[in-house]
Amino acid sequence: MVMGDIVTGCDVLVIGGGPGGYTAAIRASQLGKDVILVEKYDLGGVCVYRGCIPSKTLIHAANFIYDLKNPGMGIKSSVEFDFKKLQQGKFEVVKKLRDGIGYLCKKYGVEVLRGEAYLESSDKARISLQDGTTSTLKFENAIIATGSRPQEFPGFPYDGKLVINSNEALGLSKVPESMIIIGAGYIGIELGTMFAKLGTKVKIIQRSSRILTKFDPEVVEVVSQKMKKLGIEIYLNSRPEGIRKEKDRAVVTISDKEGNKTELAADKILVAVGVRPNSEGLGLENTKVGLDNNGFIKVDEKRRTTDAKIYSVGDVAGPPFLAHKAFREGKVAAEAIAGLPSAFDNRAIPETVFSDPEIACVGMDEESARASGFEISTGRFPFRASGGALTLDRTEGFVKVVANKKNGEILGVHIVGENASYLISEASLAIEMAAVLEDLAGTIHPHPTLPEALAEAAEAALGKAIHI
Ligand code: FAD
Repeated sequence: MVMGDIVTGCDVLVIGGGPGGYTAAIRASQLGKDVILVEKYDLGGVCVYRGCIPSKTLIHAANFIYDLKNPGMGIKSSVEFDFKKLQQGKFEVVKKLRDGIGYLCKKYGVEVLRGEAYLESSDKARISLQDGTTSTLKFENAIIATGSRPQEFPGFPYDGKLVINSNEALGLSKVPESMIIIGAGYIGIELGTMFAKLGTKVKIIQRSSRILTKFDPEVVEVVSQKMKKLGIEIYLNSRPEGIRKEKDRAVVTISDKEGNKTELAADKILVAVGVRPNSEGLGLENTKVGLDNNGFIKVDEKRRTTDAKIYSVGDVAGPPFLAHKAFREGKVAAEAIAGLPSAFDNRAIPETVFSDPEIACVGMDEESARASGFEISTGRFPFRASGGALTLDRTEGFVKVVANKKNGEILGVHIVGENASYLISEASLAIEMAAVLEDLAGTIHPHPTLPEALAEAAEAALGKAIHI
C-alpha cells in the first residue's frame, strides 16, 4: 500500500471515482485484485455531484411544484416553495450516495486515496495526496476514468456569476428571474424546462434547425410543443455572437441564418454546449495511450487503450456521455483485466431526456435503420389511447417501435411520454435479447399501465393493434 514517498504496488490502479471508476474498482476487487482508487475530489464524480443526481432531484421537485400548480382532474391547490431548502434536500441526496459509494468501496476492499494521479509510465503513477504528500505507485494495470467537464462557448467564458455551466446552474441559491441557455442538447432542455417550471423566463439559443438533434424528430416535436406551453422561447438557426454586461444582467447578441441580429437580456447565461474530456495533465504522454482528434482516449471493445496495460472507461473514453454507459464499461474493463471474456458488446445504449414529457430511446430510429440497409416496419401507439395513461391524466406522447420487416427483429424503440425513462428498460432488454415484434406483442403486460403501450406499438407494427 501507499506510504509517503515509498514506491509500493497494487494490481489495479483506478484513476477517478465517478460511475466508471468506482464500478471498475469494486468489480476488480470482487474478482480478487488488489485495487487502489484515486479520486481528487469526492466519490461519485460528476454524476453524483454535478450531473444525474442533483439535476434529477431538482427536476423532480420542479415537476412536483408544476403539477401542484396545475393539478387538473377537478383538484384545486396552491403551492409555495423554499428554494434554499430544496437545495439542501438535494445535497442530502448527494451525500447519501457519496457515503454509500464510500461504504461499498470499503465493503469490497477497495483502498480509496484522496489525491490526484499522474502517470509517469505505463506501470507507475505519482499520487499527490490531499494531505500534501506525494507517493509513487507501481501497478499491473490502470483504469483511467477521469470523466469530462463542461465545454466553453467561444466569447462566453465562464465567470461563475453571469455566465455559468450546468454545475453552477444546479447550485444556484435562488431561482433566477430570467435565463438564456446556449445549446439545446439534453442538458439545456432538461435545465431549461426545470427553471421554467420554477418560474424563470427561459430563452434557448440553438445553432441548428431543431432541438435535441440526436433524437427522432417526431418524438422531439411533442416536447417542443410542451416547452412552448411553458413559455420557453427557442431561437433556432441562431448563433450567440457577443455578450455585454448591463448592471447585473447580460445582454446577448444573436444572429440568425440570414445574419439578422437580435438582443436578448437575462440574469444568467447557461452554457450547455457539450463536454471536454479530462485527458490532459494525466501524464498520458509518458504512456502509449492514444487519443482521438477530440482528445478522448481510444479504447477497444474490452476498454483497453493503445497501451496494453491501461484501460479507460466512462466519459473520457468517448460518447455517449452517460453514467449507465460508464457503469457497464467499468465492469467490462475490470473483468477483462481479471481474464474474463468480457467485452462492451451491448447492442444498444438507452438514452433519456428528463424533459416534459420525458423522452427515452434505444436502438435505431427509422432514418438510421434505413441508412443501415434495413427494410423496416414501424408501429406507433399514442398514450391518448392507453387506459393507463388516461387514469394518470398523462396522455401526451407515444411509443414507436422500429423493426426489421424481414424477420420482425426489434431495431429501435422511441418513447415520448410520462415515465418514458422507466418504460425504455423493457425495450433495451428486448433489443439486447434480439426479441422480435411477436415477443413484445405476446408478452402479457399488467393493465391499466403505461408499459402496455410497448406491446400495443409492437402489435401496431404487426398490423394487429386492438386499441387504435
Ligand atoms: P465522472 O463522473 O466525470 O468522474 C470522474 C472523476 O475523476 C471525478 O470525480 C474527478 O474528480 C476524478 N478525476 C479526474 N482527474 C483525476 C486525476 N488526475 N486523479 C484523480 N481523480 C481524478 N448521465 C446519465 O446517465 N443520466 C443523466 O440523467 C445524466 N444527467 C446529467 C446531467 C448533467 C447536468 C451533467 C453534467 C451530466 C449528466 N449525465 C447524466 C452524465 C454523467 O454525469 C456522466 O456521463 C458520468 O458522470 C460519467 O462518469 P465517469 O465515471 O466517466 O466520470
